[in-house]
Amino acid sequence: MDFTVLTLFPELVDSFFKHGMISRGIDKRLITGHCINIRDFSTDRHKTVDDRPYGGGSGMIMKLEPLQAAIYCAKKNAPDSKVVLMTPQGNTFSQEKALELAFGNKGLIFVCGRYEGIDERVYTKLVDEEISIGDYVMTGGELASMVIIDSIARLIPGVLGSLESPESDSFTNDRLEYAQYTRPEEFEGEKVPDVLLSGNHEKIRLWRKRSSLERTFLKRPDLFKKNRPDAEEKKILNEWCRELESFAGE
Ligand code: SAM
Repeated sequence: MDFTVLTLFPELVDSFFKHGMISRGIDKRLITGHCINIRDFSTDRHKTVDDRPYGGGSGMIMKLEPLQAAIYCAKKNAPDSKVVLMTPQGNTFSQEKALELAFGNKGLIFVCGRYEGIDERVYTKLVDEEISIGDYVMTGGELASMVIIDSIARLIPGVLGSLESPESDSFTNDRLEYAQYTRPEEFEGEKVPDVLLSGNHEKIRLWRKRSSLERTFLKRPDLFKKNRPDAEEKKILNEWCRELESFAGE
């Protein structure tokens, strides 16, 4: 998977490509990470990339031509890539979208805006998809692109270390991840559940499933609407209900 970020602040994203899981993925040649400075494609003497909005109003708008040239350059280097514009007005990013982007594309080109935004014709002529990372407005698209690259890269087989796995992560199959513990066995009177020390794999699997269901029910019940409980999950939830009823009746 090739990640290319078009930005006016490449140093922000360059350092992200040089650390942690992303840099290990690059070293293993499972992903690539490049930045393109949009300003390099400005053709005037002052390297201008923004201009005043037609119709008046506050702030500056990113000009069309340098962005177009930067996108064409990125596409030349990674021809099968999808062009994704970072904008608070786009489709909201999610784990589902991360999976779709990770396995549906050879590469992704992220266009990061700054100032008041981008000339409308970039949206209509040069971009395949608009994505937002949430209903709030940031100063630039760089953080948004890094959020998205991080969550996609960890899904690509081999990028995470052999001891880590995205399979039980929250939002996979629309459930939250089960409770996790490590040493010490007891902390300020709170003990690690006995079953996790039992070595019985089937009991541990069932305990984790129940923990995941309980957490999803308590913290994000909306996820059950997206993916209804299967037969085993229903059985576990019914058991839990019976326990709660008998507890309430005591
Ligand atoms: N005036 C624009 C609007 O109201 O839609 C917001 C412009 S914002 C100050 C500058 C840039 O930050 C945007 O062009 C976009 O690239 C990026 N950005 C801000 N918030 C974002 C979000 N929630 N998701 C993705 N990108 C965002």
